Amino acid sequence: MRAFRGEILSVARDPALDPAAVRHDPDGLLVVEHGVVVARGAYAELAGRFAGVPIEPIDGLIVPGFVDAHVHYPQMDSMAAHGEQLLDWLDRHIFPAEMAFADPAHAREVAGAFCDELLRHGTTSALVFATVHAHSVDALFEAALARAMRVICGKVLMDLGPAGLADTPATARAETEALIRAWRGRGRLGYAVTPRFVLSCSDQQLAVAGEVLATHPDVLLHTHLAENTRECAEVAARFGDARDYVDVYDRFGLVGPRSVFAHGIHLSPRECTRLAETGAGIAVCPSSNLFLGSGFFDFTRAADHGVKLGLGSDVGAGTSFSLLHTAGLAYQAALAGGHRLDPFRALWLATAGGAALLQMADKVGALGEGQEADFVVLDANATPLLARRTRGAALADRLFALQVLGDDRAVSRTYVMGHCAWDRSGVRQ
Ligand SMILES: [Zn+2]
Repeated sequence: MRAFRGEILSVARDPALDPAAVRHDPDGLLVVEHGVVVARGAYAELAGRFAGVPIEPIDGLIVPGFVDAHVHYPQMDSMAAHGEQLLDWLDRHIFPAEMAFADPAHAREVAGAFCDELLRHGTTSALVFATVHAHSVDALFEAALARAMRVICGKVLMDLGPAGLADTPATARAETEALIRAWRGRGRLGYAVTPRFVLSCSDQQLAVAGEVLATHPDVLLHTHLAENTRECAEVAARFGDARDYVDVYDRFGLVGPRSVFAHGIHLSPRECTRLAETGAGIAVCPSSNLFLGSGFFDFTRAADHGVKLGLGSDVGAGTSFSLLHTAGLAYQAALAGGHRLDPFRALWLATAGGAALLQMADKVGALGEGQEADFVVLDANATPLLARRTRGAALADRLFALQVLGDDRAVSRTYVMGHCAWDRSGVRQ
């Protein structure tokens, strides 16, 4: 057993609906045993009960480890590719990069670098796209397992993809089933059935995705939805009899409480209603949406309909791994639609909100008693500007400045299951 003493902040539920969800211990104690939080509260109240437990003083703001609800590990070396919107960007930049993952050694090298990059940015849990190659999933799971990270991944299904990246409905089913069998129950890993998006899959393959999802109640569905206007037009043209984009996924059994859809920029009220009533949710990816000129996510409409949300970096269209930076951009995207995203709500989206979306809210996201001790130490003095801006600032103001001005520079340490997995100073424990 060991304990950490410092300022602790978490937001377990949507603070717009429940202001009491914000839990702040200015001088707190976090007691961890076997990687799990066994007690948390004011140091003055807990110190006596845990006398004798070694205490590590923490200089900085302790928040739960970030949950990246949508990211592509094979695209990390394709970030900042110039000049295109979604469909051309895929053809010109992304598909060629993903073809290189036919080489398992390349997949392993990138997977290790990707997991290190997540930890460096304070991300301890993530829902991740691999490529169409089954061994690309093995590579990521091996890297995440070695770092004890909570990672969900899946082989990409794309039988209508370009030559070299196209599978078939039969291989999609066989490889997905084999991966689920091989990785189920190992470490903190989980599986997601991962059709790339409607346009990369035949009807037959979408049906396979729905059947596999229905067979395995512990598996998620991870795909893209209504990101780009040209994409939406092509989906509408192919499915002339569908009510809308969500209805296309619905008819293949892909819309339910375990479904995570990235983006959802161009959704009708009916689609929001349908997502909310089925418990499906959206990974909001503002840096990607800006980078590809896709549009702004409508936070007001999502809130009005009660759609479940998390935040995604969507690297490689996303321009940063940092969920702090992503939260700052979410504020800007929300304000473009007249919605003022509160910094505590943004923190909730980046932690417990994302955890709920990924069906892991009982395990991570709020640093509550019984949860796994994944946390980040944020440094409000990380840059001279941040130090000036946050000097003497109240908590909400400090948190907002960290979201707008901060990124990986403001992550001084990342802890996974109570162990330091990243230390900015270069010292690991
Ligand atoms: Zn994506």
